[in-house]
Amino acid sequence: MYYGGIEAGGTKFVCAVSDENQKIIARIKFPTNSPQETIKNIKQFFEKYQLEKLAVGAFGPIGINKKNPDYGYVKETPKAGWQHFNFLGELKKFIHVPIVWTTDVNIASYGEYRKGAAINKSSAVYLTVGTGIGGGLIYKDDVYQNWNHPEMGHIKVAPMKGDNFTGDCPYHKNCLEGMAAGPALEARACKKAFDLNKDDPIWRLEAFYLAQAAMTYTLLYAPEIVIFGGGVSNQQQLFPLIRKSFAKQLNQYVNTPPLDEYLVHAQLGDDAGITGALLLAHGK
Ligand code: ADP
Ligand code: ZN
Repeated sequence: MYYGGIEAGGTKFVCAVSDENQKIIARIKFPTNSPQETIKNIKQFFEKYQLEKLAVGAFGPIGINKKNPDYGYVKETPKAGWQHFNFLGELKKFIHVPIVWTTDVNIASYGEYRKGAAINKSSAVYLTVGTGIGGGLIYKDDVYQNWNHPEMGHIKVAPMKGDNFTGDCPYHKNCLEGMAAGPALEARACKKAFDLNKDDPIWRLEAFYLAQAAMTYTLLYAPEIVIFGGGVSNQQQLFPLIRKSFAKQLNQYVNTPPLDEYLVHAQLGDDAGITGALLLAHGK
């Protein structure tokens, strides 16, 4: 029995097939070109396998509400050709098995929950901090979706004292993504984030915003763990700073697990998404 997973990112796609023992038996990666070319690549890859189920995590925002006409669509995106593209509809033309349809960050959240930093936890928030910021909530052993999927990277944040950057989110300017994603850091520093010194004061600023977001998720969802993934979170010096700022901002209003176990780095790196997609296809 075979299960399929697709991580549909704005930059690259990963497709994989696993067997009934959850072992990956085939995997490919290709750049996100036009929808037509992408669909062709996906079709070619999966046509050799008789799948039981497929799970897709797509960049978006995407339509996840079955009651809405945009269900299965990639909606607003700067990615040429993908705006208002009926991605799920196109997949259904040649994949005639049940398809789990969710966001790219939700499959990564699920991967970290089942096989990464949140193993043995019953709930988790996962935040990826890279070119953009996206987050997923794992609740009751599943990815949380409601009328729509959450967009945790676009919450409003209070500016840090002395930070004059006005934010670069094209929709909200100074939301979390606009203030703390990689490009915002780089716009302030005028250099690549990985070229910055580990003791550059900008990391304290970054930690302030990430801690503020973690506090919001803590107050809203009371998760068992908050996991940070994405390129920017590879900067290990951020974690003590995030924990310190979180403690200060929360001011002991609610209990959390010990902060070095609560605010942690992701463990699966680039594999989180495809791992989560395959596990979602397998089911519990
Ligand atoms: P994407 O979000 O495009 O999938 P990444 O998670 O690698 O990819 O995010 C890219 C952003 O993160 C860029 O702004 C890049 O400069 C920054 N970034 C990537 N790796 C690192 C790193 N090791 N340290 C600091 N910043 C990084
Ligand atoms: Zn925004």
